[in-house]
Amino acid sequence: MVRTPLTGGNWKMYKNPARTTSFFETFRPLVEHSGNCEIVICPSFLNLAAAVAATRGTSIQIGAQNLHWAKEGAFTGEVSGAMINAAGCSHVIVGHSERREYFGETNQSVLNKTVAALEAGLIPIVCVGERERKNAEAVLTEQFRCSLGALEEGQFRRIVIAYEPVWAIGTGDTATPENAANAHRFIRSLTNGRFGAAAAANVRILYGGSVKPENAKGLKAQPEIDGFLVGGASLDPVSFASIVNA
Ligand code: PEP
Repeated sequence: MVRTPLTGGNWKMYKNPARTTSFFETFRPLVEHSGNCEIVICPSFLNLAAAVAATRGTSIQIGAQNLHWAKEGAFTGEVSGAMINAAGCSHVIVGHSERREYFGETNQSVLNKTVAALEAGLIPIVCVGERERKNAEAVLTEQFRCSLGALEEGQFRRIVIAYEPVWAIGTGDTATPENAANAHRFIRSLTNGRFGAAAAANVRILYGGSVKPENAKGLKAQPEIDGFLVGGASLDPVSFASIVNA
């Protein structure tokens, strides 16, 4: 089974439209020969238009960092999947640990948002991962059972999973390639149990947590790791390109 690698950048609450445009001016030529690695950059909502305009005619894809689970309605300050799709996005991050920690997202809301993203024609990049350096398998099992495992088979086939141990996010403390690969294998075994061997072989599992140009090659050498979701290092075009090209 050949899974197309994907490297995503999560810009969080950084940059403005002008900085978004200048990022892509530097970044585009650096990834012109990035082979078959899919690239998805997820700026804040207000920078999506600039990012879509700056990547038109390239293979770089743009995603949002969050969506609401309803199609539309009286939800002040929220953004629907259809709006994100209409803005020119192909992907959306769902259930990032910062959303879970600061905005009360639960496995149930992650499930609802994943379904809403799929219904809007977006590819959800669904984040899972343990908070502390312990109980990883118990946490992953619970997250899988209550969100990913509750999808229908056809829905599951269209998602991307990001394994992001929370203790590694923004801390400089990366999982070793072997530990990350073990967690990915475990997620694949959960997938096998719920959706069967083909789904387990096909689903792409990205690693996220302090990925940098210096550690990307070692992580990428693990066949279990299908790419990355990168926070801090995705803000700099040279760093992010070197991760994409690792
Ligand atoms: C993230 O926020 O998804 C992330 C992995 O951040 P960082 O790369 O900065 O650890």
